[in-house]
Amino acid sequence: MADKESCGGNPSAGGLDAIIVKNSLAKIKNKLVVMSGKGGVGKSTVAVNLAIALAMEGYATGLLDIDLHGPSVPKMLKLEDEAPETDGERMIPVSFGGLKVMSVGFLLRDPDEAVIWRGPMKMGVIKQFITDVLWGELDYLVVDAPPGTGDEPLTICQLLGPEAGAVIVTTPQQVAALDVAKSVNFCCQLEMPVVGLIENMSGFVCPHCGEVTEIFSAGAGEALAQKFGIELLGRIPIDPAICRDGDEGTPFIRHDANTPSGRCFADIVKKITGAGAGK
Ligand code: ADP
Repeated sequence: MADKESCGGNPSAGGLDAIIVKNSLAKIKNKLVVMSGKGGVGKSTVAVNLAIALAMEGYATGLLDIDLHGPSVPKMLKLEDEAPETDGERMIPVSFGGLKVMSVGFLLRDPDEAVIWRGPMKMGVIKQFITDVLWGELDYLVVDAPPGTGDEPLTICQLLGPEAGAVIVTTPQQVAALDVAKSVNFCCQLEMPVVGLIENMSGFVCPHCGEVTEIFSAGAGEALAQKFGIELLGRIPIDPAICRDGDEGTPFIRHDANTPSGRCFADIVKKITGAGAGK
């Protein structure tokens, strides 16, 4: 992981709360927060497929969706009708194959319901997702955080602490790339290492001839990675199958692994597992 220079404090809860959080986190070897400066860049797609890929490789993996206002994980895994059971005290994550999944979407009665929560309430819910969910022993916990640097990313990064790593997703357009700087600075202030940057929707591979068309500007990810001293983990092309699979709840990495986007994604997963601890 590319470790950034320390440039700020990492406030954490004290007392009994802190001990409970610490005990829950002690069972999770690697914590990855997938974040982005903007919405719609493919952050949830990356989080879901990364978690599935890790589980497929035999890592004990959990996927936590803390996008409280727009949880996409249940839809992307076709788990909209699922609700977590409890052991009387704690929630049992919903299972997708071997993957353990938790999302606020499972707790809403109506998927169209708007969540209107102020900061402290959001912080409480996110903390409960760590302490009141039976994650068990995990090799990886992948967190799908909402875009930007608001309450939710702040809360999860403070809870997970500097042992966690950030995977930042962007697209090649300058307007999206501009926000990468904010995400990197956010991690820096929280002393959270940045595992790397993923440039998504990076060129279109013609399904007939295989030619790559740079629909947006090219090379933005590389330039940004260089500017901030972080690794460019990969460039995932625009692939209609990724969009279709997301809508149908069938993560593309499971069955489209042999396409240009699938191979690129597998390469990214290899770099991520190479950066941290293993099984
Ligand atoms: P975010 O979490 O950043 O808001 P999503 O992961 O929900 O973004 O992706 C937004 C939309 O773009 C979804 O419909 C998703 O299927 C689609 N998408 C993401 N990445 C790609 C890609 N590389 N090629 C085609 N469609 C993509």
